[in-house]
Amino acid sequence: MRIAVIGAGLSGLVAARSLQQDHDVTVFEKSRGVGGRMATRYQDGFEFDHGAQFFTARSAEFQDFLQPLLQRGVFASWRARFAELDRGAITATRAWGADYPHFVGVPGMNAVGKFLDEGLSVCRNTRVAQLESYKKGWQLRDDGGSDLGRFDWVILALPAAQTRALAPADSNLRDVCDSAAMKSCFAVMLGFEEPLQLPWDAALVRDADISWVSVNSSKPGRPDAFTLVVHSTNAYADAHIDNDIEAVKSHLLAEIFEIVGGKSGSAVFQQLQRWRYANADRRDGPGFFIDEDLRLAACGDWFIRGRVEAAFSSAFSLTQLLRARL
Ligand SMILES: Cc1cc2nc3c(=O)[nH]c(=O)nc-3n(C[C@H](O)[C@H](O)[C@H](O)COP(=O)(O)OP(=O)(O)OC[C@H]3O[C@@H](n4cnc5c(N)ncnc54)[C@H](O)[C@@H]3O)c2cc1C
Repeated sequence: MRIAVIGAGLSGLVAARSLQQDHDVTVFEKSRGVGGRMATRYQDGFEFDHGAQFFTARSAEFQDFLQPLLQRGVFASWRARFAELDRGAITATRAWGADYPHFVGVPGMNAVGKFLDEGLSVCRNTRVAQLESYKKGWQLRDDGGSDLGRFDWVILALPAAQTRALAPADSNLRDVCDSAAMKSCFAVMLGFEEPLQLPWDAALVRDADISWVSVNSSKPGRPDAFTLVVHSTNAYADAHIDNDIEAVKSHLLAEIFEIVGGKSGSAVFQQLQRWRYANADRRDGPGFFIDEDLRLAACGDWFIRGRVEAAFSSAFSLTQLLRARL
């Protein structure tokens, strides 16, 4: 079978690797790099994981899948000093350890995607804009209407709204997508010449428009240059996602420096990233979508919960079923 996987985030890469064992698989990715929200930005000598901060592996399937990556040093445990903050006040602390590991890609979160795309046929910088029914399968087209090929099956491995944009009118996938509101997030990346003296490496923040601060440079295998990654709350981002980016940045910077102390000018690198589809609430259900008549399927974190392990589980369960049927 010729199978197209659209989206090279974790779920798309997991699906493609599994199906490639028996089929001819092509992955389409709109961005330059793979890994989707497991992203890393390198700029001006600084490094930031501005999407997913860490991941955990509870299920035996995910632990098994990760084993070869662990052996190759693609990820490692982040033994952070973790704190809970009520704005600037510390209310609880604990050390993340081996009992419940918090994993990060090494040297950046995007190492996981880079490892998984080895041996796959990935068309980068290619946004799939249209699925046209063709005989028993699908004709794919890009933004300009150009032909991207014909496939027997299509797997959509995208956030809910982007899945909906490609879902055919005669499929109930549209309803599935409509029932899954995804939430936004702003990520602020800060690079410093002098390290801030903080008593924690990762902090969950309450009673503020920011929800998370991490000392990105405290993760294993990072450059020495001191960096912070700060995430807004989903509620703040949902309410301000289309606002002037400079106004959002200056509000979040004021929040951040009130909480961590110091002056915003001490950060020589300051950048803001807008994630329109960052997170999804936990939901029950099969964890993926499949329509065998249409030869169309979909997977991704949002079928389960906005987490790395959920993206894996969704793709894993879908491809277990597909490999048994095709
Ligand atoms: C700010 C932030 C913080 C997070 N923190 C954590 C955390 O600490 N722990 C955790 O477990 N999870 C976290 N997550 C969630 C985690 O990153 C996701 O659950 C997971 O990476 C989702 O993978 P996915 O494959 O389902 O989707 P994605 O990673 O979104 O992959 C979808 C891919 O599809 C591509 N694409 C979209 N439209 C098209 C198109 N039309 N054609 C071609 N390609 C297309 C996109 O470019 C993207 O690469 C965080 C996410 C964000 C944004």
